[in-house]
Amino acid sequence: MRETHLPFSPPLIGQEEIDEVVDTLRSDWLTTGPKTKQFEQDFARFTQAPAALALNSCTAGLHTALVAHNIGPGDEVITTPLTFAASVNVIEHVGARPVLVDVEPDTLNIDPRQIARAITDRTKAILPVHFAGHPVDLDAINALAEENNLCVIEDAAHAPSAQYKGRMIGSGDNPTAFSFYATKNMTTGEGGMLTGSPEFLEQARVISLHGLSRDAWQRYDEKGSWKYDVVCPGFKYNMTDLQASLGIWQLRKLESFQQRRVQIVAAYQEAFAESLAFQLPAEREEVVHAWHLYVLRLLPNALPISRDEFIQEMKKRKIGVSVHFIPIHLHSYYRNKYGYRADDFPVAHDNYQQSFSLPLHPGMTDQDVADVIHAVREIVTQCRRKRGAAA
Ligand SMILES: *Cc1c(COP(=O)(O)O)cnc(C)c1O
Repeated sequence: MRETHLPFSPPLIGQEEIDEVVDTLRSDWLTTGPKTKQFEQDFARFTQAPAALALNSCTAGLHTALVAHNIGPGDEVITTPLTFAASVNVIEHVGARPVLVDVEPDTLNIDPRQIARAITDRTKAILPVHFAGHPVDLDAINALAEENNLCVIEDAAHAPSAQYKGRMIGSGDNPTAFSFYATKNMTTGEGGMLTGSPEFLEQARVISLHGLSRDAWQRYDEKGSWKYDVVCPGFKYNMTDLQASLGIWQLRKLESFQQRRVQIVAAYQEAFAESLAFQLPAEREEVVHAWHLYVLRLLPNALPISRDEFIQEMKKRKIGVSVHFIPIHLHSYYRNKYGYRADDFPVAHDNYQQSFSLPLHPGMTDQDVADVIHAVREIVTQCRRKRGAAA
């Protein structure tokens, strides 16, 4: 057995990031400035995005996008129950009603057929999440949006570098929010990026910094002026140059990070392919998966132990494991406000009860990967033996 605990998803920060942060600290520009601008340009180039706006979180990006699209009280936004609270909390923040629809059994992404059934006169937007890094069916979702005059705001917290039918996630005109939280595929500690059309992002930029008019952004610059105007009661969502210092290097490393993720996933898929205990994660033909998460699902009645017990057994073997996600409709705020029942979204709910996510990060050694595989196999074998003894 391993001597040390294998963390679920630690950041991978190198000397380059450290040097860049120190360089920023020694400069006289700490907050939104030249490095943030460079990071925006680099990120836009990488994702082939029309434009990019660096923010202090993905949550800020989603919220800003809803505000920029004027979504508010009386409006409905269709989204998935299988996501982190942030994707749905922002809908509440603007006073709109989140309308949850269930996910597809293979990808665990929001199901376009269910979206179609949930559209009403009040629907203003669809907020899909590229779950685990597997792109949603964007063509189907965009077509529904076009027919019904809705906007699509993509939660791409898991999906930097993912592709759908040869197109990078973030390369279209839909507002798309990425996360650089510490556990994500690339990190700035806390941080996010919103991509979309230049006209939309111009508006989003104003909303994300106190509602200050565009030119006021340069007010501390040589070219800037002390004068500014507040055009709306905006938020304080800007990224700092300290964060961007990390982001510039994390982005340069992202491709190699992704290559390592793909290797680890290949090892997992091969190791568990023959197992009768699990449903393996899917990767459809038309996508490039960003593999933020590797989610295994216990098949019903395959093992005599529960998912929680499985996680306990992994923990005993010093392997960090997580669950993605406790569905939105099970959280007390949403359950109480909208009167949801557990089985309202059976696919999301079953996934919650049966799944666990294995460690997946570019810092994992081959030995770490082997340890994870060994632990999973050992637990399965032990279960079988116990069942054999009982029979
Ligand atoms: C992490 C995460 C977010 C929030 O990202 P922050 O940058 O922490 O705001 C939003 N949606 C999903 C699906 C996430 O996993």
